[in-house]
Amino acid sequence: MSTSLDNPNQILPVVPIRDGIVFPGTEMILTFGRQRSVAAIEAAQNAGKRVVLVMQRNPSINDPTPSDLNQIGTVGEIVQMMRNEGEINALVRGISKVELTSYEAVEPFFVARVAEVADVIEEDEETKALFNHLTGQLRQAVKLGKTMDFLTFMNIMSGMSPVTLSYQLAGVLDTKPSERQELLEINSVKARFEKEAAYLAKEVKVLELERKIATKTQEKFEKNVKEQVLRERIKTIEKELGDDDENKEFKELADKIKKAGMPLEVREKAEKELRRLTQMSQYNPEASYVRTYLDWLVEVPWMETETGKVNLTDAEKVLNQDHYALAKIKERILEFLAVMKLRNASEEAPAKTTKTDKKEEAKPAGKGSKSAPTILCFVGPPGVGKTSIGKSIARSLGRKFVKMSLGGIRDEAEIRGHRRTYVGAMPGRIIQGIKQAGTKSPVFMLDEIDKVGADFRGDPSSALLEALDPEQNYAFSDHYLEVPYDLSEVFFITTCNQLDTIPPALRDRLEIIRFAGYTEDEKFHIASDYLFEKQRVIHGVPKGVVELSDEALREIIRRYTREAGVRNLEREVATLFRKTAKKIAEVETKDRKKYKIDPDDLQSYLGPTKFTSSLAEKKDEVGMSTGLAWTEAGGDILFIEVALMPGRGTLILTGQLGDVMKESAQAAMSYVRSRWKALKLPEKFYQKLDVHVHVPEGAVPKDGPSAGAAIATAIVSALSKKPARRLVAMTGEITLRGRVLEIGGVKEKMIAAHRAGIKEVILPKNNKKDLEDIPKAVISDLKFNFVEHMDEVLKVAIPGLKFSAKS
Ligand code: ADP
Repeated sequence: MSTSLDNPNQILPVVPIRDGIVFPGTEMILTFGRQRSVAAIEAAQNAGKRVVLVMQRNPSINDPTPSDLNQIGTVGEIVQMMRNEGEINALVRGISKVELTSYEAVEPFFVARVAEVADVIEEDEETKALFNHLTGQLRQAVKLGKTMDFLTFMNIMSGMSPVTLSYQLAGVLDTKPSERQELLEINSVKARFEKEAAYLAKEVKVLELERKIATKTQEKFEKNVKEQVLRERIKTIEKELGDDDENKEFKELADKIKKAGMPLEVREKAEKELRRLTQMSQYNPEASYVRTYLDWLVEVPWMETETGKVNLTDAEKVLNQDHYALAKIKERILEFLAVMKLRNASEEAPAKTTKTDKKEEAKPAGKGSKSAPTILCFVGPPGVGKTSIGKSIARSLGRKFVKMSLGGIRDEAEIRGHRRTYVGAMPGRIIQGIKQAGTKSPVFMLDEIDKVGADFRGDPSSALLEALDPEQNYAFSDHYLEVPYDLSEVFFITTCNQLDTIPPALRDRLEIIRFAGYTEDEKFHIASDYLFEKQRVIHGVPKGVVELSDEALREIIRRYTREAGVRNLEREVATLFRKTAKKIAEVETKDRKKYKIDPDDLQSYLGPTKFTSSLAEKKDEVGMSTGLAWTEAGGDILFIEVALMPGRGTLILTGQLGDVMKESAQAAMSYVRSRWKALKLPEKFYQKLDVHVHVPEGAVPKDGPSAGAAIATAIVSALSKKPARRLVAMTGEITLRGRVLEIGGVKEKMIAAHRAGIKEVILPKNNKKDLEDIPKAVISDLKFNFVEHMDEVLKVAIPGLKFSAKS
């Protein structure tokens, strides 16, 4: 290999190279495609085989001019060349480093005058050390995975001059083109070594890091594989020994099935499902459904329980212990229990002892003949003690108590469950409740059965009927369970706020017990004897620390609540205790004082009063009357306002009245119009005046015919300009001719009137029979007027009204 030019000052063809350098002493295969380059190579091939190879300063220039080229390049010798479709592939060997001093021609290719640039070869120790260091580092790099031509590597390792090594290294290092050009332009070998040492060190570092990462990944991978293999092996061993997790679970399930006391049919079903589960791969998604199903089957109580022991004396004791008043209701319940006791004793005994899987025999013989409705239904406004009576019944019978609300149910599946094919299927509420109770014979309260609706998803009430009806419920079918469940031992109690919306088929089966609401006195006793103590215990307040004066309690009942039941009253009492509990907790035990709560203190505990004016404090007014309404929340009083204005006898109705109430307003108006003469009303008022009837306090739903009498009274009062007596409350439907017809909800209405401080009531004559039910305290405080005709109503309600002599 010649390392220098024969003639140090020569003219040679120049070939620009985009981004490569052929260092002196190295070989490279280059491809030339540009026209000017091809021409230069061909010319060189024909004359001396030498070209100058220079790198472009910017590789992206396609057609460089001399100024785009570096000034230092290499003279190369074409060792071999091959033409290939207009391109030339050539093996070129670098001969020497030159400087392009001037360009002699540009077309058809560059021709330049070049002068050789000699390298300075230092011979000091440092250069030698660098030499050794570099060969060592290169070996290390190759060991770490640096890729390079094997022959070149062998050549380097077998020894060469420092200058050759420096160029060889420059050719193999992982550097950018500009860095290579820089290496070429350095003339001192030592300086070139130093630069190369830096590049090589960096390369080794990168290689080491790569190796480290690769090893770590590999290790991790290997560890995972190893673990998996070991785990599989453990599984196989456990399977061989028969004690893997799955097997354990299956055994447990089998055990539970055995112990659950299922009827034969159910047990067979459960065992079949378990067999299916054992054969399933644990990755089969169905496995989890089957598992959930089996869990339900074993957790629903199947075991027969001891029921039927009804001790009436005990039951009476418990009912009296837990509840004030409600005498009639307690009596009805005791009667019901007595019948149940007799029935259990006489007819059911033989069927109970045989445990069998056949439906015909499983049916408790003779239980519930068609004519005997056996499901209790408590009807009444919220907070009157329906739930708590239910709990007492459970307590007195020694049974568990569960409560499920049916409000808003529209889908049959809520009662009867979803078929198992549905994702997330569950049993219906009946079976859920039974599972919650954990026994086959709980007292099961179904709340709000009047709020069950029916739509395209099926009729929940028919499913409900099947569950409740003693004729059918020994084999209740829940879609999810798939096996019949015997509900005949469940003591169902239903509750509702009103009966109207319950489908007749269901209502037929119910034994209705009405809770009408409490009088002020009853509330007072319930609060002082029961609620006060109950809330004291709940709030952890020591006995005797809080004292509520009787006046304060009455004030709470009157001014802070307005309800048929005692739910809000209980809430207010709870607030009192909550507030005092905080005060008590803040001080040391020894510093504790007593808290006596009088009417004046209420504001600071409960805030401003919620229901301010009592009726007695208001004046009688023209065009106003007091009616009585029945709502789901119990009875309520209702004010009717009538205003007159110039017009043509139009009847305007406002205050969110229901259709029936609107009609009764119209009937009232027609009555008044037909009686104008007799009542001495302004002549032909209906040609000159519009009558506006308004029923304020929109929160109470206002419907039903019973406000007719009150509306007519208000209209007459407005037209006659005589005030109606505010403290006389009236209820009654009226006909066009003024007859007053019987209405419902008398008990609730009388209690509400009493609560509101009414002194006198007007009722249809035919409702006289309803007085029987009404608490004595209410009867003795009210004056009753029973009427048949509207004229009688007016005589009582509007004392100033003059009737015409002829009427
Ligand atoms: P409902 O089920 O009718 O909505 P609850 O049974 O929940 O009403 O009664 C509300 C609260 O009032 C309960 O704390 C209950 O114990 C209490 N309560 C209702 N009536 C009486 C009563 N006659 N004697 C004692 N406490 C009663």
